[in-house]
Amino acid sequence: MTDKPTGAGLATRSIHGHGFVDAHGSPHPPVYDSTTFGFDTTADLLDVVDGRKPGSLYTRYGMNPTIQALEQTLAGLEGAEAAWSFCSGMAAETALFLTHGREGIVCIGDAYGGTLELLSTQLPLLGIKTHLILGGELDRLEGLLAAGAKLVFLETPTNPTLELFDIRAIAAKAHAHGALLAIDNTFASPVNQQPLTLGADLVLHSATKYLGGHSDLTAGALMGPAQLLGPIWDWRKNLGSMIAPTTAALLARSLRTLVVRVERQNASALRIARAMDAHPKVARVFYPGLADSPGHALARQQMQGFGGMVSIEVSGGGAAATRVADNLKLFALAPSLGGAESLVTQPCTTTHHGLTPQERSRRGITDATLRLSVGLEDAEDLIADLEQALG
Ligand code: PLP
Repeated sequence: MTDKPTGAGLATRSIHGHGFVDAHGSPHPPVYDSTTFGFDTTADLLDVVDGRKPGSLYTRYGMNPTIQALEQTLAGLEGAEAAWSFCSGMAAETALFLTHGREGIVCIGDAYGGTLELLSTQLPLLGIKTHLILGGELDRLEGLLAAGAKLVFLETPTNPTLELFDIRAIAAKAHAHGALLAIDNTFASPVNQQPLTLGADLVLHSATKYLGGHSDLTAGALMGPAQLLGPIWDWRKNLGSMIAPTTAALLARSLRTLVVRVERQNASALRIARAMDAHPKVARVFYPGLADSPGHALARQQMQGFGGMVSIEVSGGGAAATRVADNLKLFALAPSLGGAESLVTQPCTTTHHGLTPQERSRRGITDATLRLSVGLEDAEDLIADLEQALG
């Protein structure tokens, strides 16, 4: 391994940040699918086991050259000292919560349905106190921190209403009480937002989304200082939630095009948001790039791009929205996001199906809300598809 090019720009880091030098001159790390790695002597083995020397040992520990090269790139993308990769975003979340959330977790704002389920159902079964507060209830944060919660977790922008939270301000509140702030940066991607530079302590990704970028792999990542990631390693090791080497290589391949993909998705999403804003059959558009969006000023301060996710509220209610979703031809009706292919979901039938209508409406989600994940197709084709479906 060589030193990672920390000073380089994001695109350069995403391509050259792995630090791997291949004996045969391959420009990228090969797939080492070995589960175990051999040593010449017991002394050599103990040097690696006891951490005196870097090296590979056992794949489930993450001590595999393909995985280690991926993690060096992942750390560089978020400007972090270190990164761990996982077999899914939920595996990364579970390891994070079990390591740093045992004294209480505050989740702010809307979050991915699996996150809400883990926080409201499984973790309390283990005696972990979890508190779910919405953006309009931020005044409760201080009290929950004073009562002992030691981990604040949030997504920004949120799913599906693209609400933004001020990372700097929330980090300051958390730190004043000795708590950590972890940001799920899946929706923004490191191209549009780097939470560690804004004061967050840890960053989480469902790498299944923009980092993977092709809807063909499931993975997760956590980035941050080595001191905070160190204890997470033990949970990952013993939960067995390690990424597979072949998936690690596929993800590393995807990261090399992350910047160009997301920049195009940003540009197309802005065009689509503007077209939808002007459309007579669209009652509301949620996109932080629109100048009159509630999160626009904050997005300009803490984001470098507005992202590839756009939500719309179709005039005419839930049945009209279902018809639009069913009539789209280029946007596939499917959950997930961040891939080359554009996707549409109606949150009341997918991501937020498990919530009562009252709870959805508290979160600003109506039956007429559609969430669009803008892919890499031509923006004019996507707009034409939306127009024919709305028509
Ligand atoms: N975080 C966000 C914002 C997500 O959208 C998802 C999945 O949709 C997850 C986390 C969980 O990731 P995974 O499906 O890779 O476990």
